[in-house]
Amino acid sequence: MLTGRCLCGAVQYQSPGPALFSVICHCRDCQRASGSGGVPVVGVPKASFTHAGPVKQSRARGISGLPAPRHFCSECGCLLFGTPESAPEMVTIYAGSLDDPTSFSPTDALFTSQRPSWAKLAAQLVEHAALPER
Ligand SMILES: [Zn+2]
Ligand SMILES: [Zn+2]
Repeated sequence: MLTGRCLCGAVQYQSPGPALFSVICHCRDCQRASGSGGVPVVGVPKASFTHAGPVKQSRARGISGLPAPRHFCSECGCLLFGTPESAPEMVTIYAGSLDDPTSFSPTDALFTSQRPSWAKLAAQLVEHAALPER
């Protein structure tokens, strides 16, 4: 079971899993949305994902050209999860919001072509210049 919440605690979410993938995304959109060099993301099935509390979403288009909503707490602004329309069967949880972030074990780094040198990770991940082939 993956559970998490925002900074102020007004929004909680949970997923029974399984984790479909665990990556660090370094695309420019993730950098801007987070103010960081990349976003740790765990994908889970949307059908069993639930959340409660006051959520707002930004609806910028993703790499696919389709809207890639990012959901955040309307009280504290904490980014929590995404629901990219390019992959409607999944939710992308931002792993820093997990109650147990040590349960997140990334395997791949995405969009390394857009990653600033200061955001290179100590962990040895499989690197992809953009998205991996699916
Ligand atoms: Zn909050
Ligand atoms: Zn990204």
